Amino acid sequence: MNYSQYVVHSPQNLNEALGILKEKASEIRLISGGTDVMVLIKDNIIKEKELLNLSFLNELRYIHEEGNTIKIGALITYKELEKSKVVNLNAPILVDASKTIGAAQIQNLGTLAGNLGNASPAGDSIPPLYVLNASVKLQSADSERVVPVSEFFLGPRKTKRAPNELITEIAIEKTKPGLYYFFKKLGLREANAISLVSVACIADLDQYKKVNSIKLALGAVAPTVMFAVKSEKLATDKQLDLNLVDEIARSVSEEISPITDIRGSAEYRRRAAYGLVYEGLYEVLMGTAKRVSGSFEGVY
Ligand SMILES: Cc1cc2nc3c(=O)[nH]c(=O)nc-3n(C[C@H](O)[C@H](O)[C@H](O)COP(=O)(O)OP(=O)(O)OC[C@H]3O[C@@H](n4cnc5c(N)ncnc54)[C@H](O)[C@@H]3O)c2cc1C
Repeated sequence: MNYSQYVVHSPQNLNEALGILKEKASEIRLISGGTDVMVLIKDNIIKEKELLNLSFLNELRYIHEEGNTIKIGALITYKELEKSKVVNLNAPILVDASKTIGAAQIQNLGTLAGNLGNASPAGDSIPPLYVLNASVKLQSADSERVVPVSEFFLGPRKTKRAPNELITEIAIEKTKPGLYYFFKKLGLREANAISLVSVACIADLDQYKKVNSIKLALGAVAPTVMFAVKSEKLATDKQLDLNLVDEIARSVSEEISPITDIRGSAEYRRRAAYGLVYEGLYEVLMGTAKRVSGSFEGVY
């Protein structure tokens, strides 16, 4: 592999970037933090010979609050999410997931847009984005559209992004204070591991632990991240107790459609999904799960 064989375009603003993309479209590979792309280059598995380096587009580095929505510019990194007061207060599940993505080096460079663009069913920011009702803004030189994240993926490595479009923004819904949430992932080792299974959950329970509503999204168990729709329905309006925790976890393990690959068998993934959902809901039942608190002690 020889890096010098690539022609790198480094536009200084969004208009310039969209202009280059309009002209080159599928001949050019977008690169933000480069934590996926550089691995592909090293392994010689990208076909494009030109790179569109987005890292100078400072207009895509922002986190804005707009009513019930948080708008996140495409170049925001995991570390910036972890330090953001507005994200910690209103979408802490995304902070928890960001902290599990690679190690510090990856979190300093990797972006949400890159995780979406990479379109791996094991992308760890994606289940939280599902339960946060996220949407993805796609911009080209001539148009702009917004796609719900749950409709963005067409399969492994396939998305609705057209070759002349960039992801420029991700919008998420704020989570109401008091709601329970958890993000859990299982890999082949404790840290710096690709998920074998991941689960994101946001649940609204009343003071007697009756489930008013619940969202459960799972990663690495189907061609795309998926909502466990049947299991969510099963849980809704029921009193959470040990039997229901077991029933929901079993239902999730039956609802997913995992494959067997080098990291684990389909059966192992079903059991792991059962275990992660059981553990998370057990913590909700016992009152030890995290709740959106509306307070933040970290560094802004
Ligand atoms: C050691 C290591 C550990 C890792 N650990 C994890 C982990 O635990 N969990 C996890 O989910 N991932 C992990 N990753 C993968 C990677 O870090 C993430 O997917 C990250 O979010 C990619 O972001 P990036 O900005 O670096 O993307 P890049 O590498 O720049 O791009 C990734 C893909 O997205 C496309 N893209 C980039 N920007 C845009 C844009 N604005 N619009 C449209 N498409 C775009 C690129 O063309 C490319 O196809 C790991 C990677 C490494 C090397």
